[in-house]
Amino acid sequence: MKKLIPCIFMLLVLLPTKGKEIIHNSKFFNNNPSFFSVFNRALKIRGVDAHGCGAFLANRSTGKDTKRKHNGLDIIGNEGEIVLSPISGYVSRIVPPYHNDTRYNGLEIQGTGVWRDYQVKMFYVSVFFNKHFDVGEPLGFLQNLDKKYPSIINHLHIEVRKNGKLIDPNLVFEDYIIQ
Ligand SMILES: [Zn+2]
Repeated sequence: MKKLIPCIFMLLVLLPTKGKEIIHNSKFFNNNPSFFSVFNRALKIRGVDAHGCGAFLANRSTGKDTKRKHNGLDIIGNEGEIVLSPISGYVSRIVPPYHNDTRYNGLEIQGTGVWRDYQVKMFYVSVFFNKHFDVGEPLGFLQNLDKKYPSIINHLHIEVRKNGKLIDPNLVFEDYIIQ
């Protein structure tokens, strides 16, 4: 029994209840309505690998194009993992990340309700054919980037815009991100 007590305590600490409570309270933080986690767990940001870094506004310069920046945030995930909709909204666009590589898919969700000012773009998801997603609803499966970029850290790319203006996704996912 003595050994069990610390285990039970750890379990309670680790239970991922925080996100759902926040959604139900419609809490705002950083002046934004809280978003739901895109995976059913805490989120970890892609660090540096052979192809770059997953941080928001990380350098993406190629050749003469020296000012290119990473518009999104890369969240580590495994191939086939279910991606959840971080907001309620409708699919405004299907946006494949590459014009010349049809293996990969993406979409843009226009928020509704408390998220009406927000647009969320997500890449590398094989998307379900819904026209509308509720917050926390599965929207597709994460794809395998290793086929295109060998040894890359597999991830979901997510961009957030408020009234069309790019914002730092850390502001709306802060609650789920572990360092
Ligand atoms: Zn990215």
